[in-house]
Amino acid sequence: MPPRLGIKIDVDTLEGFRQGIPALLEILAARRIKASFFVSLGPDNSGRAIFRVFRQQGFLEKMWRTRAPALYGLRTMFYGTLLPAPLISRGAGEMLRAVAAAGHELGLHGYDHVRWHDHLLSMSREEVSRELARAQEIYTPFLGHAARAFAAPGWQCSAASRAALAAGGFLYGSDTRGYAPYFPRFGEQVHSVLEIPTTLPTLDELLGFDGCQPEDFTALILGRLQKAAVPQVLTVHTEVEGGPLRQEFANLLDRCLDQGVEFFRLEDWVRELLQEPGKIPAASVRQGRLPGRAGRVSCQGPVEAEP
Ligand SMILES: [Zn+2]
Repeated sequence: MPPRLGIKIDVDTLEGFRQGIPALLEILAARRIKASFFVSLGPDNSGRAIFRVFRQQGFLEKMWRTRAPALYGLRTMFYGTLLPAPLISRGAGEMLRAVAAAGHELGLHGYDHVRWHDHLLSMSREEVSRELARAQEIYTPFLGHAARAFAAPGWQCSAASRAALAAGGFLYGSDTRGYAPYFPRFGEQVHSVLEIPTTLPTLDELLGFDGCQPEDFTALILGRLQKAAVPQVLTVHTEVEGGPLRQEFANLLDRCLDQGVEFFRLEDWVRELLQEPGKIPAASVRQGRLPGRAGRVSCQGPVEAEP
């Protein structure tokens, strides 16, 4: 079996939406690769993320190491603080339809990315449902149907958010870091919406870490793909791989194609998997730390119920 890779593209900011999406569409089209895009559609409050400096271990170090101002642009860094937060969704219909028309999957990456990232764990199911509903209210008229897929901002997921995904009729979520698809368990309850975790590290996590250059990252991803027994999921950001590191991302895709890697959209894999849901195990979700990422993210625990 050739190695299989799903490219999950997160759109967090207005800059990433307007500049990063077209850049990635071009890179993917030139290689006939179909990917899965997940868009935040509410206010771009990226500037508020700066306040994480005061609350989260590792954030300042990461900003410095990845040269965040160069990656994200100074304007983006002040949205929601010194500058008013612009709405990503304003005039977004044409771009969203272009993504879908090119054959890519399109799902939601929340309404207010920063609010979800920083406050999800203290939000009730009703509050989470409101965030989802606001994003769907914007998405649905643009595309003519509701979004079926969701990827959590900042890999933050909770019992409340998974219950809200089920109530919102979502087919699956991609909310956590892990190693294989599973049904998430919180306490005694196993949730019914399938989870497709991101299985590989991200470029922005490893860049500059121990002198890691983009070519080292590509070598690491290729090594992991060759060894993997199950399809892998790589998360990229329009602000990074569709921004200053777009050439490096294009090189990574070319190396993957040279090695015979097959690309898939997450939704297509989910439909295959859900033909035999009894074969998909449950696993707990816990908050954990990852090398190169500030703060904690939701991670897949050990598999509990083998098929
Ligand atoms: Zn994001």
